[in-house]
Amino acid sequence: MAKQFDVVVVGAGPGGYVAAIRCAQLGLKTACIEKRGSLGGTCLNVGCIPSKTLLHSTELLSKIRREGKLLGIEGERVEAHFPRMMERKQEVIRSLNEGIKALFKKNQISHFAGAGSFSSSHSITVSQGATKEEIEGKSFILATGSEPTPLAFLPFDERRVLSSTGALSLDKVPRKMVVVGAGVIGVELGSVYSRLGTEVIFVEFLDRVCPTLDPGLSKALLSSLTKQGMQFHLSSKVMGADISSKEIHLQVETSDKSSLSLQTDTVLVSIGRRPYTQGLALDKAGIVVDAKGLIPVDGQFRALVPHIYAIGDIIDGPMLAHKASEEGIVVAEIIAGQSPSLDYLAIPNVVYTSPEVASVGLSEAEAKNLGFSVLTGQCSFSANPRAKCSAEEEGFVKILADAATDTILGIHIIGPHASELIAEGCLAFSRRVKVKELSSVCHAHPTLSEVLKEAALSIHKKAIHK
Ligand SMILES: Cc1cc2nc3c(=O)[nH]c(=O)nc-3n(C[C@H](O)[C@H](O)[C@H](O)COP(=O)(O)OP(=O)(O)OC[C@H]3O[C@@H](n4cnc5c(N)ncnc54)[C@H](O)[C@@H]3O)c2cc1C
Repeated sequence: MAKQFDVVVVGAGPGGYVAAIRCAQLGLKTACIEKRGSLGGTCLNVGCIPSKTLLHSTELLSKIRREGKLLGIEGERVEAHFPRMMERKQEVIRSLNEGIKALFKKNQISHFAGAGSFSSSHSITVSQGATKEEIEGKSFILATGSEPTPLAFLPFDERRVLSSTGALSLDKVPRKMVVVGAGVIGVELGSVYSRLGTEVIFVEFLDRVCPTLDPGLSKALLSSLTKQGMQFHLSSKVMGADISSKEIHLQVETSDKSSLSLQTDTVLVSIGRRPYTQGLALDKAGIVVDAKGLIPVDGQFRALVPHIYAIGDIIDGPMLAHKASEEGIVVAEIIAGQSPSLDYLAIPNVVYTSPEVASVGLSEAEAKNLGFSVLTGQCSFSANPRAKCSAEEEGFVKILADAATDTILGIHIIGPHASELIAEGCLAFSRRVKVKELSSVCHAHPTLSEVLKEAALSIHKKAIHK
């Protein structure tokens, strides 16, 4: 007889595994199916974690090379040991994989290794090789994530034409890399290889990098990455490619509509990700994806079939691990009969370049379009003693507020540890804190967080260090 569960989760990425744990905590008998050999999904295995591990190693390397003398650190030439960096990346992944496994065990979640495929709207077949097992659920949570979008004329071979997955597992540092698409994943992985000595050239269709950022931050990021030696062709398009010889030849149409030929040994195609529902046999469950391949859901994450829910990269919204996890928690609580809610505007966006970029809430243009009369406060890291101590003075914090109510509308940071500093911004924005409240909070000295306080103070012309 098929095993029976209250909830069957398909996919053990940051959406699925978090949903499974929350379901189990709420007393629901839970199963989680994962077809990858390890838990943690794209994020842990081929996404957030490996990219941040390599970004950390290479940032340290470039900091010591660039600023070692300034900081009083001298010695033999500092060299990158690329195989060791890659090995450490795998060790970090392995250790976190084990962590999730232990959490599944602790929470008594039944882990099914294999690919899940609906056989009816209440049952799923899990296949691993020739072995098949049928499981049944009262509810299902689909969290099967996304995959890199390919370019038709540049198919991934993960050797010379790379997706992010291939770029995270190269065995040697390429001489040259053309990155097609200067979005978040492109600029992060481009930064990794640029710091390792690769000549990195971006071709970006839009007129700016990381287009989801506030334009001011996007401009500052472009200027910084250019100073670091990366090259950019903005408002440009790769029109064709010849991959038949040792070198890859790319035909690019540039911003002035002239044509440019680029030769390179590797291409990273990072033009976006697309939802992944292959093999789920959604039709057997009565679910139809939309034109973009996303599963349409209602405000309660219910797909067309009321006992089947979907979260994470396979539904609309930003493709972010923390968005998937928040949805995982909320959907588990909904299934358990609670009434949680999720504020999508309070989900932060981060780019882990150097300097880092992070933002939450509305951009200035969005706020104005919504009819707010916007007040702006800005403070640079160059005015911050802690940033001076660590020679990380590049960047600024910009806070937007509603002139009518003094409520914070958005916080935008480019600078050192922006990914950590934004947490205070998230708290302030999600609780709709007033500028006066944020600027009256005592911030420890000397810390980078004092820039947030100064930016808030500057909205009402009360900044001390300006
Ligand atoms: C290089 C890179 C860097 C990134 N960096 C960040 C970052 O710094 N911060 C951030 O927030 N986001 C980042 N992301 C995005 C983030 O990884 C995704 O948004 C997140 O992983 C989505 O989570 P998910 O649970 O929806 O899906 P996924 O993490 O994609 O997990 C889905 C899982 O479902 C499994 N699966 C699919 N079909 C089946 C099936 N039929 N049966 C069983 N299992 C199945 C897959 O094997 C996979 O493991 C990055 C992505 C990439 C590629």
